Amino acid sequence: MPPPVFRFAPSPNGYLHLGHAYSALLNADLAQAGGGRLLLRIEDIDATRCRPEYEAAIYQDLAWLGIVWEPEVRRQSDHLDLYRDAVAQLTARGLVYPAFESRAEITRLVADKEAVAPWPRDPDGAPLYPGVGKQLSAAQRAEQIESGAPYALRLDMAAARALVGELTWAELGEGPAGETGTVAARPEAWGDVVIARKETPTSYHLSVVIDDALQGITEVVRGADLFWATSVHRLLQALLGLPAPVYRHHSLLRDAEGRKLSKSSAATGLRELRANGVTPQQIRNMVGLAPAA
Ligand code: GLU
Repeated sequence: MPPPVFRFAPSPNGYLHLGHAYSALLNADLAQAGGGRLLLRIEDIDATRCRPEYEAAIYQDLAWLGIVWEPEVRRQSDHLDLYRDAVAQLTARGLVYPAFESRAEITRLVADKEAVAPWPRDPDGAPLYPGVGKQLSAAQRAEQIESGAPYALRLDMAAARALVGELTWAELGEGPAGETGTVAARPEAWGDVVIARKETPTSYHLSVVIDDALQGITEVVRGADLFWATSVHRLLQALLGLPAPVYRHHSLLRDAEGRKLSKSSAATGLRELRANGVTPQQIRNMVGLAPAA
């Protein structure tokens, strides 16, 4: 049996905090315990928020924690052409359409709809796409694109769903309501998700499934906040003919007030803790992991 392959995949849009330390250390511990490999991926497709100094800090902080990853780091911004090809493939199959409403217009459309009746929301609480992109004719789309209008490329969820039928994934961890074992994917709960944008030829969902497949990841270990995103990942894997890893979603660390940790909070930032003399061993203790072997 080939060794299991794990990955830690942070976005360099801020400094790492205790929650990242937990996720990274858990990946490293599981890789070590199972005789597996640990890969590192930098998820930097959002050029407006990602910065080289955050990427440099990720390497420093992980090394300080004692985490050892394979030398070849995959940086998503180096592979935009690959994601572009996948979008072209989905577009050629009629599964993707451009939607031209701005974020402000979408908010207004949802408010109009909610004035009449409740409007469905995705598992993260954001309203489903309420716009008319799917109804536009080929000529209308071409005209808008030629005019230079910004757009998002959205997945036609109904068409995609009809192509692949029922999907499940193997969950070794736990979802927000304790879901575990074989979980039924519900990608339709996300509506027509954004797959790429005019200025960014990909999205988190698309890049993550392509990279997990190309890096040969067998076990995805990440926070439970991404549990239901796995539905979209399973759908994209099925559409693009990519293998499905097994998933292990772990609980999220919370601050004293019960809030999710944030990249901007000094109280839980790894750099601040290090500057205050906290040791990597104490970090393991703080996140509830047994001392390193
Ligand atoms: N880049 C994502 C984050 O920093 C994690 C993606 C994943 O593990 O699938 O939240």
